[in-house]
Amino acid sequence: MQAAVYTGKGVIALQTRDNPRAGADEVLVRIHAASICGTDLKILRGGHFRVGPDETRVLGHELAGEIVEVGAHVGHWTVGQRVSVVPNIGCGHCAMCRKGLNNMCPDYRAFGIDIDGGFQQLMRVTPAALYGGNLFEIPAGMNYEEASLIEPLSCCFNAWKDLAVTPLDRVLILGTGPIAGMFLQLAKAYGARQVIVVGRRAARLAEIAPLGATDTVDSSAVDVLDEMQRLTGGRGVDVALTCAPAPELQVQAMAALARGGRMNFFSGLNKGTTVQIDTNKVHYWGLKLLGSTGSSIQDYASALQLVESGQIKVTDVVTHRFGMADAVAAFDHALSGQGMKTILYPQEARL
Ligand SMILES: [Zn+2]
Ligand SMILES: [Zn+2]
Repeated sequence: MQAAVYTGKGVIALQTRDNPRAGADEVLVRIHAASICGTDLKILRGGHFRVGPDETRVLGHELAGEIVEVGAHVGHWTVGQRVSVVPNIGCGHCAMCRKGLNNMCPDYRAFGIDIDGGFQQLMRVTPAALYGGNLFEIPAGMNYEEASLIEPLSCCFNAWKDLAVTPLDRVLILGTGPIAGMFLQLAKAYGARQVIVVGRRAARLAEIAPLGATDTVDSSAVDVLDEMQRLTGGRGVDVALTCAPAPELQVQAMAALARGGRMNFFSGLNKGTTVQIDTNKVHYWGLKLLGSTGSSIQDYASALQLVESGQIKVTDVVTHRFGMADAVAAFDHALSGQGMKTILYPQEARL
């Protein structure tokens, strides 16, 4: 089989490997769609604390495929079932795992990080993933590309559910990547009265706005906070999400919040970066400053329903698709920052 392998900082190599086999407590999945995420790019740049710059790993944690082999001890799952996975596998016995928060487990393992992931033609689903409830059957009517994007949507949903958005709310989304796109879709699905997206490139704003924005703000052309005041009639926004790893966006989001405002610092900053907070504003205005990382199995199940029901058209964030022969080009493309979501189709040579 072929695999696109991270072989050290900055390098993805297309390799031919022996076909893996399912162990007695595993299933083997033929990967049909795997989406490139900012986390994959972070690893590729050598900036992820769990993947060393000299390690070798098949990246990819946003994936979907079809079961082609089932281990002797495995019940329920059968050859031919279409499946996707929740990538973060909790230890199963810590306080976070006991609450069902596999994404908060300090000892988690994850596909595409500690375990070979989706950018290969065949992937083993480990016993811990199988028995931890990380494998999902794809509902009838949902295609592999949609299923591969449930994972990033589930991370968005994890942040979103705590913001308690209603049709009364004005929502601010800072950033123009696929995560920003998914938050626009959520804001629209939840009926937010106003959805403002901020970016620094006009072309990206034009690309992302149809996903659900009522207003766009080009931060290279106007003062974001002045424009926020103008667009909201001086009220500020009720909800804000930062979707790019820039400290100035966090500052802008906090400054733009109205009384009773809620926000989520969704994109993490580089390690060691800090941002000043006006705690008097938090105190007197009753702000809720939240964070979240990854998604639990429950978040994943919720995101799956949002796509299955047609409320979120998750593939609308996809702008580029590549076959396996062009896997290296797919990463180069994603690294260049063009377009929103890039999908690899491991069973196709070229698209
Ligand atoms: Zn991801
Ligand atoms: Zn745990």
